[in-house]
Amino acid sequence: MQQFKQLTDRIWYQTPVSETDRPIVAVITGDERNLVIDAGNSSRHAALFVDEMEQQGLGKPDLVALTHWHWDHVFGMKQMAVPAIATHRTVDEMRKMMDYDWSDEALAERIRQGIEIPFCADAIKLEFGANRDIELVLPTIRFAGQLEVDLGGVQCLLRQVENDHSPGSALIYVPQDRVLFLGDAMYADIFSAKWNYTVEQTTRLLDVIAEYDADYYVWSHGEAMPKDAFEQEVRLLRQAIEVTKQAAGKISEMRRLYREVVERDLTTDEEETLVFFANGAKK
Ligand SMILES: [Zn+2]
Repeated sequence: MQQFKQLTDRIWYQTPVSETDRPIVAVITGDERNLVIDAGNSSRHAALFVDEMEQQGLGKPDLVALTHWHWDHVFGMKQMAVPAIATHRTVDEMRKMMDYDWSDEALAERIRQGIEIPFCADAIKLEFGANRDIELVLPTIRFAGQLEVDLGGVQCLLRQVENDHSPGSALIYVPQDRVLFLGDAMYADIFSAKWNYTVEQTTRLLDVIAEYDADYYVWSHGEAMPKDAFEQEVRLLRQAIEVTKQAAGKISEMRRLYREVVERDLTTDEEETLVFFANGAKK
């Protein structure tokens, strides 16, 4: 059951669903207008979010900002029915999806071609059932670099950031409420045969994120993570980057070096992260 929660004075969000790959959808409520972050993975998802907003007396969405182009963040656009903001790169990728057929056969064919993955295909089937009335709507406000949106009494900064998961993603920062929306930027590249992080992209991503000081860091398929927990994640990634460089991507040596630094065995999380970096080093 999805919950609708208040995070700060100005920010509310709806919790994600892993089976259908529904990401967090959030709203930043201004005095003049509301900015919704991501459109949800279907019309049903978007409609549920808008209902929740109304029930809480927050009014309606006025704008949507997309963190990136993946289906689960954009298929609710038509239902949201308001202008959307995205990076040029996100719009370019969405444009490629415009003509896609979403039948079982077409999904299977794209998996065969390596441009779709079973996890997304299964989630699409579960979210939509047999009736896949998927109609993509392109964002009308496009930017590169950064963009500031004034909602009246609260500003939002959109910042394009490169990362392994989805090139041309946008981070969204609300300085007044000290919240940074990460989208999926912190996740690995899950569209390659071997899931991976690269040293270059992750270093650049962490350097950009470090420019923003927040109390909460919102992971689209996770939670609104408090600062101290997020700092631990960053430490893990920075350490993994260091050992990947030192061991030139050789996994056994990376494990040994990492154990030496932390002076204990690796957690499942750390083990997985090192494997992703080793995969990235072979790209
Ligand atoms: Zn994604």
